Order: sequence, then C-alpha cells, then structure tokens
Amino acid sequence: MYGDDIASVLITEDEIKAKIEELAELVAKRYPPDSPEGDLLLICVLKGAIFFMTDFARALTIPTQLEFMAVSSYGSSTSSSGVVRIMKDLDKDIAGRNVLIVEDIIDSGLTLSWLKRNLSTRNPASLEVVTLLRKPDALRTPVDVAHVGFDIPNEFVVGYGLDYAERYRDLPYIGTLNPAVYS
Ligand code: 5GP
Repeated sequence: MYGDDIASVLITEDEIKAKIEELAELVAKRYPPDSPEGDLLLICVLKGAIFFMTDFARALTIPTQLEFMAVSSYGSSTSSSGVVRIMKDLDKDIAGRNVLIVEDIIDSGLTLSWLKRNLSTRNPASLEVVTLLRKPDALRTPVDVAHVGFDIPNEFVVGYGLDYAERYRDLPYIGTLNPAVYS
C-alpha cells in the first residue's frame, strides 16, 4: 500500500504472531496469577509499541492492566541522544506493583535505560522489559532486557507500529525502507 517505499520485508506478519505467542507463554510463567502485587502492569511506550502491546496483552493468559507513557528523545529523527523528556506520564502509582515495560525496539538503549531508571525511583515490586526488536550492534549502554523477540541488523526499520515521519506504522510486518524515501 506504500508503493515502492518498502525495500524488503525483514519479519513477516506470521513470524511476529508466532513470536508473540512464544513471548507471552514465557512471561505468563513468570508472574503467578493471584500475586499479592496485583495484576501485572504493562507499560506501553507510545507510539511505536502500540500494536505489540495490544497483541501481546491478548496473547497472555494472565490478567494484566495497561498503562501508557510517551517519551521523546532529543536528537535527529533516526538516532537517539539519550536526553529524554516525558510527553505523557503514567496515570497511576506503580509502587509495589509488578511492572513490565513493553517496548517496540531497542537501538542505542539510551531511551530504555533512562526509562528504567525513572520508573525504578517509583518503587515497583519488580521492573522488567519485553521488547519486540533489538539491534545488538547499535547498543551504546548496557541495559537488562528480560525478553527479546528478534535481534535484527543495525538498519532503520518500519511497520507494526514503527514509523518514519509518522508513516508506515500501519504495516502488518517489519520492513526496511527504500533509501529514496529519505532523500
Ligand atoms: P534508543 O534510545 O534505543 O536509541 O531508541 C529507541 C527509540 O528510537 C525507539 O523506541 C524508536 O522509537 C526509535 N527507533 C530506534 N530504531 C528505530 C528503527 O529502526 N525504526 C524506527 N521506526 N524507530 C526506531
């Protein structure tokens, strides 16, 4: 639907679906359903993780509650600076709760590492991360991630929530962009 903009499909819709089932099974085992900390709290980092969060929450076989946060990282449109600003904060207190950050992609790791530090000052009972994608070659700071969907090459990708200039989020797969789109 975007003409020739997509150069290649890196991860298909079916591969995403299968991986989410796999991740959901692992995560469900980590959190007992009737825990004194209450239902697992999923924190979706807007906007990129939106489709992952909704599919993942529905694949989980344990009760969850959903919270949303939006952060923006200063820097160019395709690389992060690590200086983060909260655009939308959580509506709820997370003290004493089991919290799982749901991320779309870890690139330099700077945004996530900032977010983990910020959320840990709010005293959750536990704080872990699940990310659909990670670029191991782009990491600039060590960040502990409990669950990773796919490790991908250090390329700019779009689709399944990920955008370029707010476009391509609605693609059901993950793909790379034709360089003509940037220029
Ligand atoms: P980090 O702080 O890890 O470098 O960057 C994380 C954020 O940068 C992601 O949440 C995402 O919004 C954006 N990002 C990093 N790599 C990509 C990519 O390949 N494609 C898209 N669309 N966004 C990316």
